Amino acid sequence: MVLVVAANAAARAQSKPEAIEPMPADARIAAALQQVSAEHIRANIEKLVSFGTRATLSAQDPGSIVAGRGIGAAREWIKTEFERYSRDCGGCLEVKTDRFTEQPADRIPQPTEITNVYAVLKGSDAENAKHIVLVTGHYDSRNSEALDAKTDAPGANDDGSGTAVSLECARVLSKMKFPATIIFLAVAGEEQGLNGSRHFAKMAKDQGWNIEAVLNNDIVGGDKSAEQDHRVVRVFSEGLPAAAAEQDIRRIRGLGGESDSGSRQLARYVAEVGRTYDAGVKPMLIFRLDRYLRGGDHYSFNQQGFSAVRFTEFREDFHHQHQNVRTENGIEYGDLAKFVDFEYVARVARLNAATLATLASAPPPPANVHLLTKDLENDSTLSWEAPPGGLAMGYEVVWRGTTSSEWEHVQKIGSGTRVTLPVSKDNVIFAVRAVDAEGHRSLPVVPVPER
Ligand SMILES: [Zn+2]
Repeated sequence: MVLVVAANAAARAQSKPEAIEPMPADARIAAALQQVSAEHIRANIEKLVSFGTRATLSAQDPGSIVAGRGIGAAREWIKTEFERYSRDCGGCLEVKTDRFTEQPADRIPQPTEITNVYAVLKGSDAENAKHIVLVTGHYDSRNSEALDAKTDAPGANDDGSGTAVSLECARVLSKMKFPATIIFLAVAGEEQGLNGSRHFAKMAKDQGWNIEAVLNNDIVGGDKSAEQDHRVVRVFSEGLPAAAAEQDIRRIRGLGGESDSGSRQLARYVAEVGRTYDAGVKPMLIFRLDRYLRGGDHYSFNQQGFSAVRFTEFREDFHHQHQNVRTENGIEYGDLAKFVDFEYVARVARLNAATLATLASAPPPPANVHLLTKDLENDSTLSWEAPPGGLAMGYEVVWRGTTSSEWEHVQKIGSGTRVTLPVSKDNVIFAVRAVDAEGHRSLPVVPVPER
């Protein structure tokens, strides 16, 4: 492909646009996915269940930590586990806590200390380390009563499974180096009202962290009910961004951008990664924030303007969530480890690890992506700026029909930052992404119209 880029004029694309192909697989990432272990995941979920209850309101005094019952003991164990992975990689993980006191609210009867635990795998060069990808699950649990701090609440699936995904991604990916930073997070307070994730996301926003993707795993246990589909994991993403200002909403309404939030680009990216690496489970994109009547920690990040999606098994068994452990009329209730398919959790962990590793290897997305709309014309001219960090070797303009769910066409661009395509902007949705020397793609950015 030959592109002639004049100083200020837009180059006309010389090659023909192509149908989009999966990203090339990175042998290093493929090898890492082989390390994800259902056996480790089983051991971690069973350990989390062994704390009896991990209700946010349950015990966290030194005595109960020693006795191994309650959320305090669970928190200390998660921290120790991250620290063990860090020792195995020569101290590559920084293990931290985000601790605060939540004041009384709906499901918080008295001031309650809430602690998020996380491990940071810092990016290998200063500039690229500023861009961050994050995986999270909630380690708190509940039974039939949201305020019950005493009775068992095993929380094997909800959300021992998501916590185990965070831990296993940390164990496996900490053996590698990436230009960008990866954060492995386990939050508390989810069942009381997303308290832990809300505090963490706000801290990230206040401190100016450049979190580019959040993968929230909540109920990824692949409950062994007859109607379960173990080949599929749902990926939920918001349409209209929770953090959109009035002027953003006006633009979205005017241009038909309802399905192009950052979170939705992230969901499409997960689908693309799922085609490049066979994790054993296929992402099923659900274009809505969450399930009916339910919420999750990804929303806390959405509210602060971060792109975040939720992974959840294909079909939930509500006898095995938010239930006291009991048998009634021959039905077993309770979120027990025996209902979890550990192989399935491992497959979901592989899809998460592949997404994190690909994004952490890729350049940051291009900046200031614009679509020229000064004149009425049938061609489309896009311009952008190189992202910092020096990884971007080239760019791709991708597009799709306005009724299509995923990107369909790609025009490869060299290192230029402006191009004119013989495709009418009125008929399609465009985005631009950066590509490094090995073919890792950044998240795509939908252009802002420029007059
Ligand atoms: Zn949950």
